[in-house]
Order: sequence, then structure tokens, then C-alpha cells
Amino acid sequence: MTGRLVKYSDDIKAKIDAYNSLEPMEKKGSYWDKTDDSELTKAKKHIKDHYILTQDYTCPYCRQRNEVDHNAVWDTEHIIPKDQYPQFMFSPLNLCVACKDCNQSKTNKNVLKNPTRKTLPTKSEDYIFVHPNLDEYKNHIKILKSSLFFIPLDSKGKETIEICGLLRFLYRFTDYGNISLEVKNKIGLLHKELMDAKTGIEEHFILSCIEDVVLRGKEIAKTSHLEAMSS
Ligand SMILES: [Zn+2]
Repeated sequence: MTGRLVKYSDDIKAKIDAYNSLEPMEKKGSYWDKTDDSELTKAKKHIKDHYILTQDYTCPYCRQRNEVDHNAVWDTEHIIPKDQYPQFMFSPLNLCVACKDCNQSKTNKNVLKNPTRKTLPTKSEDYIFVHPNLDEYKNHIKILKSSLFFIPLDSKGKETIEICGLLRFLYRFTDYGNISLEVKNKIGLLHKELMDAKTGIEEHFILSCIEDVVLRGKEIAKTSHLEAMSS
């Protein structure tokens, strides 16, 4: 996995060394957002371009692929949030790119088993969620492609789904205009997936998702019915 991590050229390294040698009190997450520092801008571009390519234009959390030339569609992501842990700002292991939706949902949520750690945790078991550079995604989450359902296979998977808001794909679907038809189709797809479920845990999760879709669909149908009555 380490072969995929970003490497720094001498001039970028000098810039990062200067930041790392600041006193702990002087290191702040907001340093990353400075716009008047061309050396910082260069380092940031290098990091972002590197991870877009090594991740093959794919978000490590929702696994959605977005092959767009303009790198503004991606956020450089500090896996351990830079606001609480500015000392890990340029650590290659702590960097990746993520889609804006996942990054926005993740914000400053805790991802560490031991949040008081002072040094960079380097093992998979130090993290409560699926680490983009340390974990194999498919061991923790199964994606049902036809319906964009995310099934947690263990606690890391479950935490990732929560931290990154991956159930948003389900809710987006139930917000469509023609509720009853869409909900029906959705449940039809889920039903097929349910037939292919290989373990009890998969089956249980699909069933609870179906229930969720039905409830949401009913709720929306009720609201639109009331709105129609009052107009
Ligand atoms: Zn994403």
C-alpha cells in the first residue's frame, strides 16, 4: 500500500519541513487554507494530483468514480482531521482525495480508536473506519451496484457508512417526483439483491433497508398528499 503514497521533491520537502518544525502551538489546520503562499499551493497541487491518479479518480469512501480533468471536483482529504491534528497535515499516510459529498459528511468526525494519540497511528487496527491507505475496502463494505446500497461487513464498514453519510444514495432515490413508482422499483431491485445475499448479516441489512425505503416512501407520499389537499 505504501507505494501509492505521495513522495515529495526536495523543494516541497523543504517547505513541509519548515511547517513540521513549528512549535506545536503554532501548527494550525487553517494553515492549509492560506491562499497567498505559492510554495504551499505547489505542495497542495502535487499532493492532490498524485492521489487523483493513484486512486484512479475514485473516492475511497463511496467508491464513486469521477473522471473529470478539472481537479476542483476533488477535495484533498486529511484522513485524521487536520483541525484537531495539524501535526499530521503533510504525512503521506494521512492523505488522499475524496469526493466533496463524503468529505463534507466526514468533516472533523473522529476516526481513531484512541483519539488522544500524539504520534501518527500507522496500523489498520488504530482506526475505527475503513482507512483509504491501510484497509482493503471490499473486506469491510459490499456495494450493491444496482441500487447503490452499502452493506457493512464488520464494524469498520458500519462506521464508514455513518461517518461518510453513504446512505445518502438511498435517500436521494426516494426523493424523486414519482414516489410510489420509484419506491416500487427500488424495492424490486433490493428484492433481487436479497435473493443473492450470501450471509445472514447481508440479508438482515437488506431487509432493514427495504423497510427504510418503504417508511420513507410512505412519509413522502403522506406529505405530498396533505400538500395537495391544502392547495
Ligand atoms: Zn465519496
